[in-house]
Amino acid sequence: MDTTEFRRRGKEMVDLIADYLENIEQRTVYPDVEPGYLRSLIPEEAPEDPDTYEDVVKDIERVIMPGAASPACTELETVMMDWLGKMLKLPEDFIAGTHGQGGGVIQGTASEATLVALLAARCRAVRMILASDPQRPETGITSKLVAYSSDQAHCSVERAGMIAGVRMKKIPTDQSDKYAVQGETLRRMIQEDKAAGLIPFYFCATLGTTPSCAFDHITELGPICNAEKIWMHIDAAYAGSSFICPEFRPLLNGIEFADSFNFNAHKWLLVNFDCSTMWVKKRSDLIGAFKMDPLYLKHDHQESGRYFCTDNSLFRSLKMWFVFRMYGLKGLQDYIRKHVELAKEFESLVRADQRFEISADVVLGLVCFRLKGSNEVNETLLKRINNGRKIHLVPCLLSGQFVLRFALCARTTESRHIREAWRLITQLAEEVMQELPH
Ligand code: PLP
Repeated sequence: MDTTEFRRRGKEMVDLIADYLENIEQRTVYPDVEPGYLRSLIPEEAPEDPDTYEDVVKDIERVIMPGAASPACTELETVMMDWLGKMLKLPEDFIAGTHGQGGGVIQGTASEATLVALLAARCRAVRMILASDPQRPETGITSKLVAYSSDQAHCSVERAGMIAGVRMKKIPTDQSDKYAVQGETLRRMIQEDKAAGLIPFYFCATLGTTPSCAFDHITELGPICNAEKIWMHIDAAYAGSSFICPEFRPLLNGIEFADSFNFNAHKWLLVNFDCSTMWVKKRSDLIGAFKMDPLYLKHDHQESGRYFCTDNSLFRSLKMWFVFRMYGLKGLQDYIRKHVELAKEFESLVRADQRFEISADVVLGLVCFRLKGSNEVNETLLKRINNGRKIHLVPCLLSGQFVLRFALCARTTESRHIREAWRLITQLAEEVMQELPH
């Protein structure tokens, strides 16, 4: 949709809402639908090719309005999460369908999803232990719990441990591992901790780490977690969107071992903030951990087990519905592929310049690079780049080296922007190298 159409559609949308408000008294307050009504009104999968805007808007009256806000948006959320789960080729266990035990729920951020998974895992671990040892005091259990994540994991994982009040240990990685957690390292840490009387209960794997877009080896890590009854959560905040492309889907192999999985559709799948999509294998793990039962939340279909997202989000699923239909799966795949291609183009420019080096494999839309030389020279270069205000780079430390991260983020980025960015970077690098020893 170009900006001319966007203006027109925006005005039409205002008219639609104004008409709704003017005629609101002709509508019933309480919906007259049965649970699951919505699923039968829309296709089971996202379209491959785009639908027309007119068709999407017509469906608001046909699909959403009969269910009012509730249960319509909750049902749409479950179905949209199934659509997206199918785009990602998630195992059937994560798809709610009509009879599944698992399914998806939208969170605000990846940090929230990590925390929600950790709290559910803590609850499951405590219940499992109490089932075999009912006399054991609960505080005696929680004080022994230990969770794990990579030393490359996003800081929100560590913070989740702080909020949940559990020990969180960082699993070391290094350059030789491509900054990915290996099965053997986790196995060793678990054995040591169990020998010390601790109770391992949660492991947060990362697919696409924040610093360098590294991928933990979940095909090795998953079976270890399953054997030890450790909840494996997969945080793919950034990289997750790319798994809708068959060529990147192998990066998600091992998902079958996970208890929960999350990525930010608002990061790289064209859905506006906020929309962080989380799937669990067993909805009951989340419902059980967070169940609240006040009178004002009671409804006739409470025990159907269908509505596990009611307290969380309304209306975010509408954004997914519009985006998936307006782009179609092919349009979304093209968008991801274009960014990866542009990242490769930037990588080639860096590699062709002897003054620079690439610091980590370029798998998706992130290029980690630096000037060959000291950290100081790279820090100065970054400051100059950001002070120039034309492009914005965020750095990271990899094996003690200060590294610049070039991330493809904008919908409208073209090859000419990449070339212009490189021109600016090399021009500033020239200046910095003349001023500083390197
Ligand atoms: N996990 C990873 C791997 C990330 O890269 C990020 C953000 O960059 C996060 C978690 C945090 O995401 P959010 O801001 O949605 O909490």
